[in-house]
Amino acid sequence: MYYTENTTLYCNGNFLKAIEAKTDLYGQTLHYGYGVFEGIRAYNTENGTKIFKAREHYERLKRSCELVNIPFPYDLKELEKVTYELLLRNKLSDAYIRPLIYCDPNMSLSRPTKVNIMICAWEWGGYLGDKMLRVCISSFQRPNPKSVKVEAKVNGHYVNSILATTEAKDKGYDEGLLLDMHGNVAEAPGANFFCEKDGKLFTPPLGNILAGITRATVLELCDELNIPYEVKHLKPSELRDMDTAFFCGTAAEVVGIASIDDQKFKKSWLDTVSYKIQTAYKDRVHERNLTASAS
Ligand code: PMP
Repeated sequence: MYYTENTTLYCNGNFLKAIEAKTDLYGQTLHYGYGVFEGIRAYNTENGTKIFKAREHYERLKRSCELVNIPFPYDLKELEKVTYELLLRNKLSDAYIRPLIYCDPNMSLSRPTKVNIMICAWEWGGYLGDKMLRVCISSFQRPNPKSVKVEAKVNGHYVNSILATTEAKDKGYDEGLLLDMHGNVAEAPGANFFCEKDGKLFTPPLGNILAGITRATVLELCDELNIPYEVKHLKPSELRDMDTAFFCGTAAEVVGIASIDDQKFKKSWLDTVSYKIQTAYKDRVHERNLTASAS
C-alpha cells in the first residue's frame, strides 16, 4: 500500500490528500514517458528524521530536467523543506520519497513550457530484500547513450528496467544485471553494480549507467575505510573470478549477490570488504559512528 485515505502528498505548492489529488490524462509524461523523477530515503537517525543526501537528489532532479529540456522552476532548498514537512504531515520517519516532475497536456513532441511537481512518501523496506540475491545476466541492454540521456532519471527509461526485472523473475532469479551496448557490465534495472577481488572493489564507469548517489557514497566510504577500488569496464566473463559482488541504490541500499547465472561466488559475504561497506553504509545513513563499524 503506497497510500491510505489519510495520506498527504505535495503537489505544485500545496499539500493535498492523496485520494483527492488529480492529474490530466492528456499529459506528455503519461503518453510518452517524458518526465523525470527521484528516489530518496529518509531515516530515523539518532539525530531525528534525516533525509539522506537530499541536496544531491534534488540537484540530480534538476540536472535530469536540464538534460531532457524540461523546465525546472523550483528552488532546491524549498524542495528539501517541503519534503521534511511532507514526512511530518504523514508521521513518517523511515521512508522512501518519490518526487516526480510531470508535464502539462501536450500531444505534440515539442518541449514543454509548463511542468508540475508532486512529492509523495511511504514506508518501504529494502527494495531487493535483505537476502543474498540470485542474479542473471539480462538479455536486455541498457539504453544506448546516443538514443537517450542515460544519466537523466527519465520515466520512460524504466520500461527497459521493467523488462529486465520481469525477465529475471520469470526465469526464477531475483534480479537481472544488464550489459551496455558494448557488452560491458553496466548496472541492475534500479541499482548500480560493484564486485570484489582480493579485497579490492570494481565498478563500471559513468557513461552507460545512472550516476548513482549510493554508488558515490560507496566510493566515499572506500576512501574513508582505505578500501582500494578501481572504476573500470568489466566483461561478464571476468565476474567468474570475483570473490563477491553487490548492488547498491537508494531503494535497495547495499545488497549482496550470491550468484550470477547460477555461478556462486566463492567467498562468504561476512569475510568480504563488501560486507564492511554494507555495514558502513547503514551506519552512514543512520548517522551512527562510522569508525565503530569499520574496525
Ligand atoms: N541505476 C538505476 C537505473 C537506478 O534506477 C538507480 C536508482 N535511482 C540507481 C542506479 C541507483 O541510484 P541511487 O543510488 O542514486 O539511488
